Amino acid sequence: MRKYESESNGQLVQVICNQCKKELKLENGYLKEGCFSADFVFGYFSDRDALRHRFDLCEDCYNKLIAGFQVPVEEISENELL
Ligand SMILES: [Zn+2]
Repeated sequence: MRKYESESNGQLVQVICNQCKKELKLENGYLKEGCFSADFVFGYFSDRDALRHRFDLCEDCYNKLIAGFQVPVEEISENELL
């Protein structure tokens, strides 16, 4: 879950892991630790027709989530981070 200073000033002021409520480290509006962010709009053929879901997970909770996958995540090394 993300909180911004205000609607007019978009500076990020708080990121909390939705799973465990851990507050992630921020410096001047930038995340200083790993965070998995999801922002997804469900399509017409889903049970959540046109609903948007957003959440953030700390790295520990992300690791626990993917550890339960029957098929592992695809892992690709990126040379540059945006
Ligand atoms: Zn967490």
